[in-house]
Amino acid sequence: MLSVDEARAKLLEHARPLIETEAIAADAALNRVLAEPLIAEVTVPPLDNSAMDGYALRMADWAADKWLHVAQRIPAGQVGQPLTLGTAARIFTGAPIPEGADTVVMQEDCETRDDRVRIATAPKLGANIRRAGEDIADGQTVLHAGERLTAARLGVAASVGATELTVHRRLRVALFFTGDEIVLPGHPLKAGQIYNSNRAMLLALLQGLGCEVRDLGIVADKFDATVNALEQATRHADVVLTSGGVSVGEEDHVKAAVEKLGRIEMWKVAMKPGKPLVYGRLNKIPGADSDFLGLPGNPVSAFVVFCLFVRPFLLARMGAANTDALSFSVPAAFDWKRPGQRREFLRGKIEGGRAVLYPNQSSGVLTSAAWADGLVDIEAGHSVHEGDDVRFWPLSELLK
Ligand code: AMP
Ligand code: MG
Repeated sequence: MLSVDEARAKLLEHARPLIETEAIAADAALNRVLAEPLIAEVTVPPLDNSAMDGYALRMADWAADKWLHVAQRIPAGQVGQPLTLGTAARIFTGAPIPEGADTVVMQEDCETRDDRVRIATAPKLGANIRRAGEDIADGQTVLHAGERLTAARLGVAASVGATELTVHRRLRVALFFTGDEIVLPGHPLKAGQIYNSNRAMLLALLQGLGCEVRDLGIVADKFDATVNALEQATRHADVVLTSGGVSVGEEDHVKAAVEKLGRIEMWKVAMKPGKPLVYGRLNKIPGADSDFLGLPGNPVSAFVVFCLFVRPFLLARMGAANTDALSFSVPAAFDWKRPGQRREFLRGKIEGGRAVLYPNQSSGVLTSAAWADGLVDIEAGHSVHEGDDVRFWPLSELLK
């Protein structure tokens, strides 16, 4: 069995970044992965400008008891005249500094009378001026290939005037769910059946990553049906994702079906929940070549495996350079007296600066994941005493 870190590293090695790119409107590019660096063709800010509402002056003209004539008024969006000797300019935040001025004094530090201004305390030369290019120089690479377009990055792209961005095309993910007991919400449940919770959850997770999703529905626990579904899935998908049927029971056909159409590269990770995670490549059908990721059927296992493995894999596949999530250590508000054979990822929350656990940690209890803000990470063979530090992986990081 691979460790969590080994498995993740191995998966990432297999993640071939998408090659095809497309130019899209910057306004529609949130969360997409930039495929080409964005190079500024302007300077930001374009001119030296005022950081305050106040008065612009030449320091050589200043004296504590001296009244300067306010010879002009420069609101944002207008360009003033060169400052004549012994004068100041009324200036507003964002307005260009007039030629000759070297300092801005905020209005709260100025005394005014009619059209004159006096500054009692010595200003600092150069104060309150935002320099041309202090944010971005002309020719500077402002965004790099492989960066996901977050709100701040889209703001930066706009600040250099970009209207279109070249991004990797969307990743196509085909999805199906194994299990004779699984029923879609909207249908009555017969004895022995349960609703398909993984579908709603995985669709949302994939949509969150900006994938193009093809849902092939529920597939019977039969070898032929599974092979057929995989065949269909590979036709249009870069990645095929399934839930259930990856254990070693007689009703689990996914692994054999994958081997028929391709090969399995790994299938067990030393973690709880989620031990069975199948990764393979579906490339035996002529013309098809998709990655395969088989998640365990237990909804919590599927969720945790998605967070820790599928998400970084898909991001890398989408061309993202950084797939890491941040975690931190925090004191436990609980005792964990049963050291496990495998590393455990418990559903938890931070309350009052300490990690608390959902009372039922069974991998079938999906309400634990709905309740949680993160996963509490406990190494194999470790027990925890209240007050000990544990590692906490916020879901906001694992799903960003
Ligand atoms: P499996 O991995 O197929 O052995 O399934 C493990 C457990 O997860 C079983 O109790 C299944 O009924 C349950 N399960 C599998 N798929 C789903 C699903 N899509 N939604 C809810 N529960 C599921
Ligand atoms: Mg099953």
